[in-house]
Amino acid sequence: MIIKPKVRGFICITAHPTGCVNNVKDQVKYVESHSKVKGPKNVLVIGSSTGYGLASRIVSAFGCGADTLGVAFEKPPTEKKTASPGWYNSAGFEQEALKQGRYAKTINGDAFSDDIKTQAIDAIKNEMSGKIDLVIYSLASPKRVDPKTGEVYSSCLKPIESTFKNKTVDVHKGEVADVSIEPANEEDIEQTVKVMGGEDWQLWMDALLDADVLAQGCKTVAYTYIGPQITFPVYHHGTIGRAKRHLEQTAQALNTQLKQKLNGGAYISVNKALVTQASAAIPVVPLYISLLYKVMKEKGSHEGCIEQIYRLFAERLYSGESLPVDEKARIRIDDWEMQDDIQSEVIARWLQVNTENLDAISDIAGYRDDFYRLFGFNRDDVDYSQDVDIELQIPSLSEKE
Ligand code: NAD
Repeated sequence: MIIKPKVRGFICITAHPTGCVNNVKDQVKYVESHSKVKGPKNVLVIGSSTGYGLASRIVSAFGCGADTLGVAFEKPPTEKKTASPGWYNSAGFEQEALKQGRYAKTINGDAFSDDIKTQAIDAIKNEMSGKIDLVIYSLASPKRVDPKTGEVYSSCLKPIESTFKNKTVDVHKGEVADVSIEPANEEDIEQTVKVMGGEDWQLWMDALLDADVLAQGCKTVAYTYIGPQITFPVYHHGTIGRAKRHLEQTAQALNTQLKQKLNGGAYISVNKALVTQASAAIPVVPLYISLLYKVMKEKGSHEGCIEQIYRLFAERLYSGESLPVDEKARIRIDDWEMQDDIQSEVIARWLQVNTENLDAISDIAGYRDDFYRLFGFNRDDVDYSQDVDIELQIPSLSEKE
């Protein structure tokens, strides 16, 4: 099949297998061109197929030489429809890991369910060579079905208390316009906390501890974002911010639990704003990211997911020195994004930006390029006029059948 991008709103409903596989290969090459990290050996990544979770899996496998178990929720290909990009990414990841003789298995299903937790525990017990010494929790989901009650919760991206008005960009049309977002009600807040808060992370860690599949010294890390004042109403102080606060409280509880039981630890890492499927859905943020990319590229400090996560492992979690954290015990790899010189320049441009000067003062082109690349498009090394087999399988999943 010849595959072209089909963009619908903030998502692309097609994905290119070769492009996605090559994206993974690039990330593997990046990690392999850097020093090895004396890190974990058996890693569970929950949300392993795209964005920060995929980068965490790649750094674990190729930077630390770890065996990895990934959990993701992706659409497999059908005869007529391409798979979702995370499917092809996982296929590409496993192919690369297998070439190096490394165990790599992907469980494709709802991480919020009891069944997927049981499947993961079974795989660790029956297939992996040792207990898990790192659990990465990197889910970004619009919905969660409560495993006990069957109730469905939906997350939303809304301000709290007052209507938020600011600029936003239509990434594909290149138009800057004003946006007004109505505040959330209590129900919206509760639901968002249920989906994106720490409840499910705690359930995972309890299940893994009960099953005795975590190694001495095991660490667990979940990701958050803080960002600048301009995005506070819709992010840090909004519904998602409330959920992230709950995630931070969960980290504190888990840290105590892991320290007592395994001499381990639980951490929150504050990461940089980047183009992923999750961030593309947040109003206002894509305009901020376009300005941020421009300024950070000009200053030579721009990073993508793989650079961020390599730094998290090599210079924070496994540096061999004491872990630097902020006043709330969070790891900061958003440090370069939040530097005063970067932020003051981004804010100055935020005040000026409009449809006419968007191309000149922001990196909207870079944003768009990254967006298409998420789905395997816009790569120079792929001939998009050629037929491609869309039914690329994830090796560990096809083994089962
Ligand atoms: P993403 O959309 O690229 O990845 C989400 C992952 O979650 C995918 O692997 C997907 O398959 C998986 N997933 C979603 N629902 C699932 C389910 N029910 N069961 C199993 N797997 C499921 O998102 P991302 O941007 O990499 O976000 C990951 C984390 O990083 C989130 O906590 C996010 O808040 C945080 N973060 C993101 C940014 C950013 O700018 N993108 C910045 C800082 C922190």
